[in-house]
Amino acid sequence: MIMANSEYDCIVVGGGPAGATAATILAQHGRKVLVLERGAFPRHHVGESLMPQTHATFERLGMLEKLKASNFPVKESVQFVTPSGKESQPFFFTDRDPAEHSKTWQVKRDVFDRMMLDNAADHGAEVRYNVRVKKVLFAGDRAIGVQAVIDGETQDIIAKVVVDATGQTALLSRQLDLRYPDDKLKNAAIYSYFKGAHRDEGRNAGATIIIHMPDRKGWFWYIPLPDDMTSVGVVAPPSYLCSGRGDDPAATLEEEIEQCDAIRKRVEGATRVGNAFVTSDFSYRSRKVAGNGWVLVGDAFGFLDPVYSSGVFLALVSGEWAADAIHDALDADDVSADRLGRFGPRFMAGMQLLRQLVYAFYDTEFSFAAFLKSHPEYSDHLVRMLIGDVFNDEVGKMFDAMGDWVDLPQSILAEQDLVGS
Ligand SMILES: Cc1cc2nc3c(=O)[nH]c(=O)nc-3n(C[C@H](O)[C@H](O)[C@H](O)COP(=O)(O)OP(=O)(O)OC[C@H]3O[C@@H](n4cnc5c(N)ncnc54)[C@H](O)[C@@H]3O)c2cc1C
Repeated sequence: MIMANSEYDCIVVGGGPAGATAATILAQHGRKVLVLERGAFPRHHVGESLMPQTHATFERLGMLEKLKASNFPVKESVQFVTPSGKESQPFFFTDRDPAEHSKTWQVKRDVFDRMMLDNAADHGAEVRYNVRVKKVLFAGDRAIGVQAVIDGETQDIIAKVVVDATGQTALLSRQLDLRYPDDKLKNAAIYSYFKGAHRDEGRNAGATIIIHMPDRKGWFWYIPLPDDMTSVGVVAPPSYLCSGRGDDPAATLEEEIEQCDAIRKRVEGATRVGNAFVTSDFSYRSRKVAGNGWVLVGDAFGFLDPVYSSGVFLALVSGEWAADAIHDALDADDVSADRLGRFGPRFMAGMQLLRQLVYAFYDTEFSFAAFLKSHPEYSDHLVRMLIGDVFNDEVGKMFDAMGDWVDLPQSILAEQDLVGS
């Protein structure tokens, strides 16, 4: 039962990884927090491959032991396959640092997201499923709560701070018209799941493999999951992947697999299980990370691109940093934009480094192998970025050597004032 007039310290809208992280940490701080999740978990979600730098947040959340006890494959590496089919040496994270935190997991998101939200509830957050938030309520320019549909009835629920963790729904940045796309990253994805696909031996068995299409029109992901399942997705511009390709995405996926030896040989003899899913226009960001009484976390703030599996990592980091900022703001009785959004610039700086790495990947003139051959001194920088070690200036030095083509577009650079409405 949610009391319409009860006042929460914080309402978190959306119970994905970002929302669950923010809620858990706020509850750990002793805050009264309510999570409103539209879905009935477990529910399907894309985004199975994690980055090792999630480790510190998982530890803080009390999730590490639960993950270790799970059947999720351990991910120790990323490997790339060139358009000509040449396989790179796997980038083993443990080669640069053998510590436990250099490894991570490939997760089934229905199971993982449920674990994360149960963990938030275990820490004292109140979690409600099947509750759709219609809008964030404002008094002047300050968020004061949300309007939600609960058991078929529309209710207003009041809180000191509202966290938007609604993922690609981006509830608040759409409500305030803050959302804009990254025009350099206009892509679509079609993906499905295969049982009995190839597994490498040894340390590379849990690798994420990124495979270029032969003509470089796009690329595939190959992510090992529990129970001998593999997530396989193809990413390319929608004009190529979706236009004039009929209305059966599974057929399009099969056609693309057929044309790429490196992926075809890996799924040969495997059985596709369930539907093929389609998603597009997923790269965007909000002009603001916080306003008076509100904060955006995870995909609700922005999403880069699937290629380096950075989405859940950024969701966790922003959820963690936002929760700490909210706790401090509540202590100071000052939930102004400046106070709530103080984590924004550092977060953006790390996200921009990953963005540049994404632009490099999509640049058809560029080859990481050729770059590292002429600049071997940057191989450690590259692995650190693949791990997610991006919240420092040092790793960004690699881009100085890369030349102009990884410059950020002006539309992205122009918006550095991240707070206010
Ligand atoms: C094609 C593709 C492949 C990807 N692959 C990877 C990968 O391999 N690794 C990786 O780390 N990331 C990947 N991602 C990104 C990853 O899926 C997201 O970054 C991550 O899920 C973000 O977490 P979140 O908590 O911000 O949002 P979500 O996980 O989307 O959670 C948002 C939640 O909010 C709820 N919600 C939405 N609207 C409302 C509302 N109005 N009221 C109440 N609840 C609401 C939703 O039901 C949902 O549960 C991929 C993304 C795409 C598009």
